[in-house]
Amino acid sequence: MVNQADIDALREKPLEPRQLLIGGKFRGAEDGATMTVTSPIDGTDLTTIAKAGQRDVDAAVFAARRSFDVGAWSGAAPKERKKVLLRLADLIEKNALELAVLGVRDNGTEFKMAIRAEPGSAAATFRYYAEAIDKVYGEVAPTGAEHLGLMLREPVGVVGAIVPWNFPLMIGAWKLAPALAVGNSVILKPAESASLSLLRLGELALEAGLPEGVLNIVTGRGSETGEALSLHVDVDVLAFTGSGTVGRRLLEYSARSNLKRVFLELGGKSPNIVFADTSDIEAAVAGSINGMFRNSGQVCVAGSRLLVQKQIADEFTEKLIAAARALVVGDPLDLHSDVGAVSNAEQLATNLKYIDIARSEDATLATGGKRILEDSGGYYLEPTVFTGVQTDMRIAQEEIFGPVLCVMEFEDVEDAVQIANSTPYGLAAGVWTSNLGKAHQMVRAIKTGVVHVNCYGGADISLPLGGVKQSGNGHDRSLHAMDKFTDLKTAWFSI
Ligand code: NAD
Repeated sequence: MVNQADIDALREKPLEPRQLLIGGKFRGAEDGATMTVTSPIDGTDLTTIAKAGQRDVDAAVFAARRSFDVGAWSGAAPKERKKVLLRLADLIEKNALELAVLGVRDNGTEFKMAIRAEPGSAAATFRYYAEAIDKVYGEVAPTGAEHLGLMLREPVGVVGAIVPWNFPLMIGAWKLAPALAVGNSVILKPAESASLSLLRLGELALEAGLPEGVLNIVTGRGSETGEALSLHVDVDVLAFTGSGTVGRRLLEYSARSNLKRVFLELGGKSPNIVFADTSDIEAAVAGSINGMFRNSGQVCVAGSRLLVQKQIADEFTEKLIAAARALVVGDPLDLHSDVGAVSNAEQLATNLKYIDIARSEDATLATGGKRILEDSGGYYLEPTVFTGVQTDMRIAQEEIFGPVLCVMEFEDVEDAVQIANSTPYGLAAGVWTSNLGKAHQMVRAIKTGVVHVNCYGGADISLPLGGVKQSGNGHDRSLHAMDKFTDLKTAWFSI
């Protein structure tokens, strides 16, 4: 159990300037370029990170390729790779408090959530893939006696992993653990505003015994470092989590370079649907609040469109607004805070822009809508609820990625399905009903990668997370995530 004093002991710890991890060594960018890391908690400068340019990215890809070809990792027996990844999971757990506080200082997620979702989940993810790797078999084809047909799974080689700022360790581990477990070498590109905990993870990976060059970390701007990595002709696979805008660019980069495979985990505008027959309205209110406002709504699967059946809309909305107002927004390192800071100044500006758009579209601002705690220097926004939202409004169609909830009403199952499927996204959904048949019907009718029933959010590393439509094409988590990082090879023997 973490207490406030443990957190406070780490919150002011001075941070050294952070460098790139290339070929097993930390070093600055070749041209010495750095960028300042600003904390969303109070707007102060925490430290600097290196800004990797083309030559640094080239060096990282070269180190990854060389380590792959040398084979200390790619050619190691699965049980040897397993040992190292289990040690890494142990080290993440041992350093969980430090990792969580560091991450929160960098991206503003409330500590209560970060400690579970970041080091907690990253350790579980490394452990899961470490345990899986010596239990996944190839296949023998059903041939006649004159032949033997084998299907082998081989690592793809060099993987570029590009991740966002909302849950850097969790999402970073979703890419790194399966990619490394099957024997690849990786270049990781963290987001500009959430690099620190991933750089610390790089140190822990070396301590765990990962051979040099197997994990490289390049920090810097997406448009420079990320672009150089994505265009590189010696990267075999790109595994990306982030916005659709950047996802589209990666597909172009692939076409312009070496046709590398690109797996995209993108955004959402997820419907959370509450039927009048839900057995526990209080639970549905609490689940809807939790599924929307944790991490200031900066959650890809956030239930940002709340669809409530007409008969209970007034009662439900009243309780929802009261619950949104009761959330304590503030210093994310204070254990009393339910909601921390918006991760960066640009995202705060985006949220405020959408609040203005919603007003201009005649949605009703039921609560929130304002930046608060400005004196702290940090980026805080009230949990915001708009009612009377219509399907064709921009706030019902576009991902805001902030604490802004749209409440919409519906008549019946057909109406709910029509509204639910009315955006270009297809990441997640929620359904609250006491009717099992209706729940199954909705699970089949909603076009998303995930449907939560009588809950919102949460799942397990054993289940895939991925989108359909414009929410992407890959899957993180579960054994299926290893497919992205392996090639299927056929061997055909004449006997
Ligand atoms: P973003 O697309 O702006 O950035 C993501 C990463 O891409 C960052 O590391 C960034 O530096 C890099 N990048 C930016 N421009 C690039 C370029 N031209 N070439 C290569 N790399 C580039 O996304 P964000 O703002 O960091 O994250 C928020 C988005 O991520 C939201 O849309 C959210 O829904 C999505 N997300 C999806 C999932 C999922 O599992 N589907 C999970 C979390 C977040």
